[in-house]
Amino acid sequence: MKRHIVNARVFDGEKFLDARTVTLEHQRIAAVGETPAAGEEVFDANGATLVPGLIDAHVHTSIDGLRDALKFGVTTELEMQGYWTRQQRKEIDDDDSLADVRSSLLALMSDGGHPSELMHDLGEHGPGEGGWTMPHVTTPDDAVAHVNTFVEQGADYLKVMIEEGTVMGHPGLPLIDPAAVKAGVDEAHRLGKKVIAHAITLEATRQAIDAGVDGLAHLFVDQRADERIVSALVEAGVFVAPCLVVSASLMGYHAAALADDPRVASRLSEPWLDTLRGSFNAYPQGVFQHVLDSVAALHAAGVDLLAGTDASIPVPSHGGVAHGASVHHELALLTEAGLSPSAAFTAATATPARCFGLTDRGRIAPGLRADLLLMDGDPFTTISDSLSVTAIWRRGTRHAA
Ligand SMILES: [Zn+2]
Repeated sequence: MKRHIVNARVFDGEKFLDARTVTLEHQRIAAVGETPAAGEEVFDANGATLVPGLIDAHVHTSIDGLRDALKFGVTTELEMQGYWTRQQRKEIDDDDSLADVRSSLLALMSDGGHPSELMHDLGEHGPGEGGWTMPHVTTPDDAVAHVNTFVEQGADYLKVMIEEGTVMGHPGLPLIDPAAVKAGVDEAHRLGKKVIAHAITLEATRQAIDAGVDGLAHLFVDQRADERIVSALVEAGVFVAPCLVVSASLMGYHAAALADDPRVASRLSEPWLDTLRGSFNAYPQGVFQHVLDSVAALHAAGVDLLAGTDASIPVPSHGGVAHGASVHHELALLTEAGLSPSAAFTAATATPARCFGLTDRGRIAPGLRADLLLMDGDPFTTISDSLSVTAIWRRGTRHAA
C-alpha cells in the first residue's frame, strides 16, 4: 500500500526538488513527484519542509540515546566508541522507535590513555555494564589484533584515539605509538573498513593524517587552521566532523538556551536538560572563534564536513550536549561558521551517508530507506526552525512530534 506525503518542500539532501510529493511503500521511498491514486493514503505536509532523516556522525550511545535522537529527527547515530553485541544490534535495526546505529565498537586506545581520564566521573555509565573492558594497544601487533577482534564482532569502521590530554584538562596522557596507529589503520583498510581518529590538537591531527585515517571525529581546537593543514586534509581526502557543540563545551560554553527551548524541554528528561546546562570546561583558554574560522577555511577548500555532536551520557561534567537536540545546535553553529543552511543540512544527511558508505540513506530518492524529517517554519532561512519538528519517519513508520 502506497502512502504519499503531499504538499511538502522537498530537500533531497543536496538541493530542493521541484516535486512536492514523496511516496512511501513499506520501508522505502517508492517515488518522488508521483500523483496519488484514488483511495491511497495521503499525509498533507501543509507546505512544511521535508528532508532526509538526520545523521549524527559522532556519538556514544545507548537505547535511551537512540530513542531521544529519533524524537529530533535523527534517524541514524554513528557511534565512535561504544559496545553492542550482534543481538543488540539486530534488535535496534528492527525497532522503529529508535534511531538506527552504526558503531566502531571499542576504539584503539593506549594503556591509561584517553578516554580513561574521563572514566572516574562516569559512575553507573562507566565501562563494565556491557561486559567489556577498555582495550590496551601498545604495539603494532596489538593494533592488528584489536582491529581483527572488533571487525569480527561487527565494527562498521574503526576509531583510534590520538590524545595527549592538554585540551581535555589532563596533559601527559600516554599516546599509542604512531607505528601501532599506522599498523591498525593499514589492517582496517585491508579488511575494507574506514578509520576515524579522535584528534583535538593540530599536532594530533597531523599524526592522524600521516597514519592514513579516513576521517576526523573532531576538529582541532588549539589553533586556527593554517593553509598547510587545510591542504594536507584536502590532499588526503579526509572528512571532518568538527563537533562544534562539544568544542564549545570544552571551552566552557553551556547550552542552557537549548534546554530552555520548549521544543527541547518537552522531549528530554531532566537529567539530559541538566546536562545541556553544564559544560566540559576543560579548555577555557580556547578561542571558539578560531574553530569557527577553521570550519570556514575547510568548507571553502571543499573538505567534506559532517554534523556530529559527541553526545554521550547524562552527566553535567560532560555537558552542553544531548542526543538529537544537539544536532540542531550543530546545524546552527555550522551556519555561524559561514555554511549556508543548505550546506549545513547536507552535512547532516548526504555527506555522512556518502563518507560512511551508507548507500541506503541520507537522501530522498526512490529505493532509499524512508527515513524522513518534516519541519515547520523555514529552516533554510532561519536555521533554528529546524527544531520545529512536526513528523518523523523511520523506515516508513511515522512518529508525530
Ligand atoms: Zn566522542
